[in-house]
Amino acid sequence: MSEIPQGVERDYPLERLTTIRVGGPADYFARPESAAELVELLAWAEAEGAAIGAVGSGSNLLVADEGFRGLVLKLAGELTRIEHEGLRVLCGGGARLPSAAAKAAGWGLTGLEFGVNIPGTVGGAVRMNANAYGGELAEVLEWVTVCTAAGAERRPPDQLGFRYRGSAIGERAVVAEASFLLAEAPAEQVKETMAEMRSKRKQAQPSGIKTFGSTFVNPDDPRAEGRSAGQLLDAAGARGLERGGARLSPKHANFVENAGEATTADVLAVMAAARRLVHDRFGVTLEPEVQVLGEVRWPEDWGLPA
Ligand SMILES: Cc1cc2nc3c(=O)[nH]c(=O)nc-3n(C[C@H](O)[C@H](O)[C@H](O)COP(=O)(O)OP(=O)(O)OC[C@H]3O[C@@H](n4cnc5c(N)ncnc54)[C@H](O)[C@@H]3O)c2cc1C
Repeated sequence: MSEIPQGVERDYPLERLTTIRVGGPADYFARPESAAELVELLAWAEAEGAAIGAVGSGSNLLVADEGFRGLVLKLAGELTRIEHEGLRVLCGGGARLPSAAAKAAGWGLTGLEFGVNIPGTVGGAVRMNANAYGGELAEVLEWVTVCTAAGAERRPPDQLGFRYRGSAIGERAVVAEASFLLAEAPAEQVKETMAEMRSKRKQAQPSGIKTFGSTFVNPDDPRAEGRSAGQLLDAAGARGLERGGARLSPKHANFVENAGEATTADVLAVMAAARRLVHDRFGVTLEPEVQVLGEVRWPEDWGLPA
């Protein structure tokens, strides 16, 4: 391996960069502070044939217990900025979406309110096509800058391959910045809408727990009869299911919670057991929403049926 670029750390623990707080270390880890620095790091990884992983707020991320054999990038410096110019809000890919929503409200701009309940970064939200209470990321997104080993490129939303909880942004590409085109509205009114969204969310979801939010995506299967993943899990008796230190939240059946000293293996075990219950009861196979970093070992039962 060629000389490791400056600022790249070895064997970096990733657990504390995730909201569920499980998983092992990354072989290499860096916090690029500009698009140019990011491209340099991506080019180094490319030349070394190293895998690449981006971490935002780690709010939808499950890291393998064995960690990640490659370079993990967490955006910093100017890649976390939130600025506005007229109706445009320009954010670094590492900017926190709730902060961007709050700042936009303060500037008297509407359109980003939905971000108040999504505890991720702008880059993670673009990759995941995050959404809440009807707010559509793609509706307000003007363009993003995507960095790869080849350089930085500006792309409009229709070139990002958005789909339900996903996009076509590849594993070796990192969202470095995004521009949102919003509309004017009285700041007080926007703040009020956000406060309502927050309190609605507080009633529906557990707070103060170590979790990556929704575990499974809502199924597109007629046998689900329109029910969400959470409703199916509940009806199948999965709520509160425990494996090791991981359990399905007693308050929201689609949330896995690190209730103690959970490992990623515990999380995978609880996911597989819950998925089995839903499969056997309704014939529906739930698919994960959570993104995996590293080589995880799914329990044998993950393959279903039998
Ligand atoms: C309590 C709770 C509530 C939630 N509610 C919602 C909700 O209402 N709606 C919703 O959609 N989601 C929700 N989520 C899930 C999560 O917050 C979103 O998916 C969020 O967009 C993830 O952003 P992140 O920065 O945390 O990404 P991470 O979890 O760090 O990463 C997720 C994926 O995005 C990739 N990624 C991260 N940053 C970048 C980047 N800059 N460029 C390219 N790829 C990147 C990662 O490699 C990974 O594949 C919730 C999560 C929690 C814990």
